[in-house]
Amino acid sequence: MELPELEIIREQERTFGDEEFRAELASVRPDGTRKWIFAKQPRGKFYRWRTIVSAVLLSFLALSPFVKIGDEQFLLFNLLDRKFVFFGYPIWPEDFYLVVVLFLTALVSIVVFTATLGRIWCGWLCPQTVFLEMVFRKIEWWIDGSAGEQAVRVRGPWNGDRIRRFVLKQSIFFSISFAIANIFLAYVVSSDTLVGYIKDGPGSHFELFLALVAFTVVFYLVFARFREQACLVVCPYGRFMSALVDEHTVTITYDQKRGEQRSKWKRNDARSSQNTGHCIDCNACVNVCPTGIDIRNGIQLECVACTACIDACDEVMEKINLPKGLIRYTSAEAIQTGIKNWFTPRVKAYGTIWITLVLITTGLFYFRSDFDVTVLRSPGTTWTQTADGVANFYDLKIINKTSKDLHYSLVVAKPHQAIVTPLGLPTIVRSGEVLKGRFLISVPMHETEEHHEHEEHGNYEIDIAIDVKAGGKTIKQVSTELLTP
Ligand code: SF4
Ligand code: SF4
Repeated sequence: MELPELEIIREQERTFGDEEFRAELASVRPDGTRKWIFAKQPRGKFYRWRTIVSAVLLSFLALSPFVKIGDEQFLLFNLLDRKFVFFGYPIWPEDFYLVVVLFLTALVSIVVFTATLGRIWCGWLCPQTVFLEMVFRKIEWWIDGSAGEQAVRVRGPWNGDRIRRFVLKQSIFFSISFAIANIFLAYVVSSDTLVGYIKDGPGSHFELFLALVAFTVVFYLVFARFREQACLVVCPYGRFMSALVDEHTVTITYDQKRGEQRSKWKRNDARSSQNTGHCIDCNACVNVCPTGIDIRNGIQLECVACTACIDACDEVMEKINLPKGLIRYTSAEAIQTGIKNWFTPRVKAYGTIWITLVLITTGLFYFRSDFDVTVLRSPGTTWTQTADGVANFYDLKIINKTSKDLHYSLVVAKPHQAIVTPLGLPTIVRSGEVLKGRFLISVPMHETEEHHEHEEHGNYEIDIAIDVKAGGKTIKQVSTELLTP
């Protein structure tokens, strides 16, 4: 028997009046208790595209910790060791500014895209929406049936069928949450380390295992219980979104000019009367909404731009032979005036800042050197007399930012007869490590007389150029001065 799905949902949950939406959340009753949203599964073009995009994103999320470029994981966010890897490109604490610049660029990107295309991030890319709508809710529809069946079952008794479905669904939800927690851990500690932990067993890393279980419980509660409330009351993005959109922003909008006056559909209704809009007040757009709102009330903070109402309304329009797009991606201004003008001065300003930031970020990554070398004359020292000339002490610092160990040597490029004497310096700098040490440069007296270039407090300085060599190549040249009498 086919359940009267729309009626059940409307009667039980959708008693929201046209004005109450301004003061209350659709998913919370005035007394503060939760109204559970039984969202109907959308069907249509946008839902199919979102399914494809979500499959790509989920595959990327699950696989990228296991993809290596060279010796590096494709993406790594090791907060404990302060090591980050972006697309196989390691960033150590010395280059932390790159992480900050990347973060800033991502933030400005969201601002620019929100100003032009509304909450496109929420509907298509946000992990919360992707997991909830494309994984957890699909499993729920598969196990518990349609929204109408779910609404009927929760009001019924805890019989064998309901218990079986409940246990199966919650077990799958918990298992997926555990898998998500493991994937996120692979991004933090690296996939190799995670595989090692799994082989060792939970007892060997018990504290970490407890943390993993805690995160699993959080993910489970978010996706099984908290759901749309995470977007409505926790996520800060929804709050500042309202400061970014204006009447030019292209977002999911109900065309009230075409839709109003709404009225119920009657058989052989041609919608020809001037007082009758194209909206047949069927509530299909409300029944698919995962946050329980009515898009016909205008842009609302609760709208996560999931496109479900577009698909639902298009299906209705098709059935009653009216043009699709009563709910569509458009701007409030376009609906009022018919003129589409999303390229406003504000978008131009944001866009200019965004392009500048992207260029700066790309440049900083491109020109970042793999090794940083600093040579400074040791503080508090002066020249030292040697058998045939003078010598100075120097402090050396080498930072190896690559994923390979560096075997190096120091050679003085200028003046030619100068000699480097390492003072217990190691000749290897491990990957991601900083080497600090001292060495001596001695120059024959006749060279110092030839190269006197600056005078300082009665002493002379000559310019020194030092090559840092590795694998037969000069990987860096640094300049300093040598103090002579
Ligand atoms: S689905 Fe379309 S026709 Fe039905 S209530 Fe929503 S806007 Fe009106
Ligand atoms: S109003 Fe439409 S786009 Fe917004 S959350 Fe509801 S169904 Fe999704």
